[in-house]
Amino acid sequence: MRRLKIAIRGVVQGVGFRPFIYRLATEQGLGGWVKNSAQGVFIEVEGPERSLDDFLLRLPREKPPLSFIQSLEHSVLEPVGYPDFQIARSEDGGEKLALILPDIATCPLCQQEVLSPSDRRHRYPFTNCTLCGPRFSIIQELPYDRRHTTMKGFVMCERCAREYEDPRDRRFHAQPNACSDCGPQLVLWDGAGAPMARGDSALRTAAAAVSRGEILALKGIGGFQLLVDASNKRAVARLRRRKRREEKPLALMCPDLESARGLVNLSPIEEQVLLSPQSPILLARRRPQARIAPSVAPDNPHLGVMLPYSPLHHLLMEELRFPVVATSGNLHDEPIVTDEEEAVAILGDIADCLLVHDRPIERYVDDSVVRVQLGQEVILRRARGYAPLPVTLKETLPPLLAVGAHLKNAVAISRGRDVILSQHIGDLETAPAFFGFQRVIQDLLRLYEVKPHAVVCDAHPDYLSSQHARDLGLPVIEVFHHHAHMASCLAENELEGEALGVTWDGAGYGEDGTIWGGEFLAGDARSYRRVATFRPFRLVGGERAMKEPRRSALGLLFEMEGAAALERPWPFLEGLSERARRLLAQVLARGSNSPLTSSCGRLFDAVAALLSVKTVSSFEGQAAMMVEFAVQEGVEDSYPISLLAAEENQPLVFDWEPLVRAILRDREQGVAVGVICARFHNALADLIVEVAQRVGLERVALSGGCFQNRYLTERTFHRLQEAGFRPFTHQRVPPNDGGIALGQIVVGARKVA
Ligand SMILES: [Zn+2]
Ligand SMILES: [Zn+2]
Ligand SMILES: [Zn+2]
Repeated sequence: MRRLKIAIRGVVQGVGFRPFIYRLATEQGLGGWVKNSAQGVFIEVEGPERSLDDFLLRLPREKPPLSFIQSLEHSVLEPVGYPDFQIARSEDGGEKLALILPDIATCPLCQQEVLSPSDRRHRYPFTNCTLCGPRFSIIQELPYDRRHTTMKGFVMCERCAREYEDPRDRRFHAQPNACSDCGPQLVLWDGAGAPMARGDSALRTAAAAVSRGEILALKGIGGFQLLVDASNKRAVARLRRRKRREEKPLALMCPDLESARGLVNLSPIEEQVLLSPQSPILLARRRPQARIAPSVAPDNPHLGVMLPYSPLHHLLMEELRFPVVATSGNLHDEPIVTDEEEAVAILGDIADCLLVHDRPIERYVDDSVVRVQLGQEVILRRARGYAPLPVTLKETLPPLLAVGAHLKNAVAISRGRDVILSQHIGDLETAPAFFGFQRVIQDLLRLYEVKPHAVVCDAHPDYLSSQHARDLGLPVIEVFHHHAHMASCLAENELEGEALGVTWDGAGYGEDGTIWGGEFLAGDARSYRRVATFRPFRLVGGERAMKEPRRSALGLLFEMEGAAALERPWPFLEGLSERARRLLAQVLARGSNSPLTSSCGRLFDAVAALLSVKTVSSFEGQAAMMVEFAVQEGVEDSYPISLLAAEENQPLVFDWEPLVRAILRDREQGVAVGVICARFHNALADLIVEVAQRVGLERVALSGGCFQNRYLTERTFHRLQEAGFRPFTHQRVPPNDGGIALGQIVVGARKVA
């Protein structure tokens, strides 16, 4: 038995939506309710998992003809025991909180108009209506009205104005309404910003350039993208070289679903994700026959694919008819470029030409990234299509600002019962990223007119986000990284009372000043205690270990065998000079610049190095990903992890040494890497069940970057269930540090209250 909590925004009121939901729920034998509110239609249904899945699949397919879904968000929660299904009274009283919708992918009606030669909007790339089009990326202030958007500079022609004023028209009060007579126009520029073509000819010339293997910078919805023919090896290689992006996978845009099916295996849920109004990048298993340059996603059995989500993309892909790389228009992990002048300066050296237009982008909103785990959508990067939809909690919170962590940063504000999580900002590693972070904070506070009572930050003393929090002149609340992870997962799943939080990630500042990352916490948003962890080991060179998995491996071996460990001819140390090795040995022996960590992410790194799967990474998390991808399905046995210390009032300490020895033994005996990786994952899942049994809390929340790992998450989930526990995972909020700000808000709220 499960409960689904669903929030639907769009044209869902006055079109027979509630009776439809009533019928659908009763047909599926589900209990619960449906109700209208100023913010949309809210539904709760509960019943067997299979019936709920059917309900979710049927809902968008069978909805009333006049209805239109702009966003549908759902979470799977614990059942509460509804006896039957009811149409509940609408929530009409109270304050009508202004809701800002995310940018919505082009609706089928607009798509049809754009492609139909007889329509007055034929081939007009900025077509939209009340059902679709830009929202969050163009709004400047509330209320959402044309004069408060970046469309204010365009005066509607007579025909557009008539549509806008006619209540029977699909474009009645469609704020960005426009046509080729009165709206934004396309221009094609060369790399230096000199115009080459205008209007439709700009679009066709740009398409021809991509067909020839050139790199196109495209001004999209929430920022620039870089496009290149995905099957053209040389073109992809050139893009990587110019963008200085070595191995990180590149996302693809396919002309249509059929083409996406040719690249990746898609389940019905995955197809639904691709076709949803959110239209994110979906990570799915690639098909062996996919005709894509290998350098699109090197050594990666997955591809990130998306479908066209604006008329401009539809028209361009209609010309091209083949999949293209569509990656963020930025340098390294800086915020994506939104302004065309800036694009010439920053992307001019990367792109051969730029397809731009004169509709300003108010704020950057990257493409979102989604993966399906446990048969559900899990958001890994929350941006276009999802931000700024609120996470609605059961209780009212004081107004707070949370500034997130350091990597994959996103910030959040609370207002009433809503927590508004910002769009993905990125790693705060560069000055432009840090500047972007400050801009997003100011923007959110201004847009929602929130005056925070306090600011919540990570307890890490050196994080730029924490330092910035202290500069705001507000009371500062520090929250420990892993407590925030756990609280985020509890809040998302509406869990109150004690639970066991398994918070596994790469790194987070711990109470004792060491780097935590393999933690078991018992508690709730109010407080927690660390009930179990891993035996700590040293990270040689601190931060550098993040990029060099071999340093994590060295840290483990040094812990096991001391300096002698470095004398052995480990294959993963090949490529390191004699001098470099001696230096590492000295650093380890002295313990200088090699902080202690209990990080599970680094344990993954170490295994990647020991197996020579990856010894030096080109981006954070790469090695761990490769260990996951290497897993051979169908392996059931696992490695031992032993209990090292169980002192009273101290966390249990679990020892990875037996596991490492077993891996080394298997490796020596020539056991396949895929089998070793499976046994390693299985050992971690076993450990979680063991700790759950020792702690004895029924509910177990899985949070932190390690739970982006599908094999680990699914195996752990099922093993916990078999053992009688109730596991919970992230759904609408990323399990990685992109979801930390939600946890910070709920913990912070307890501390000010
Ligand atoms: Zn539309
Ligand atoms: Zn017009
Ligand atoms: Zn984390």
